[in-house]
Amino acid sequence: MCKVYYEVMNTSTKKRFDLVDLTEYVEEVIKRSGIKNGICLVFAPHATAAIISNERESGLMQDILTFIKELVQPERNWKHNTIDDNAHAHIGSATIGSERVFPVIDGKLVRGTWQNIFLVEMDGPRSVRNVVIVVIGS
Ligand code: ZN
Repeated sequence: MCKVYYEVMNTSTKKRFDLVDLTEYVEEVIKRSGIKNGICLVFAPHATAAIISNERESGLMQDILTFIKELVQPERNWKHNTIDDNAHAHIGSATIGSERVFPVIDGKLVRGTWQNIFLVEMDGPRSVRNVVIVVIGS
């Protein structure tokens, strides 16, 4: 019998570009779900943020943010900036993606040792950023 369990995590961001580590919370949600085998969706319901998975090493985290800034070019004269000055964040969200999916096996999130899960803030700081975590399985 397939079961669906979800929680909404409320977090906040401190900088215009920021990474928020969600790993511990996602692992707790999987525990609370009681689901042993299936998949876990981590989804940011925001058009100006994204979800990635990689190593939690301070230098690399800065490198990732540097690369994202180069990718989305916040200083460029984007058309959407005439409305609310955050076109770069929309482009980053659309390009990187709002979600990642992970396997759940034997009640645990399957990830590499150097694969933490991060919310990518590109239009912060924001007092409210939600992350929806859905566990599906049996
Ligand atoms: Zn906008």
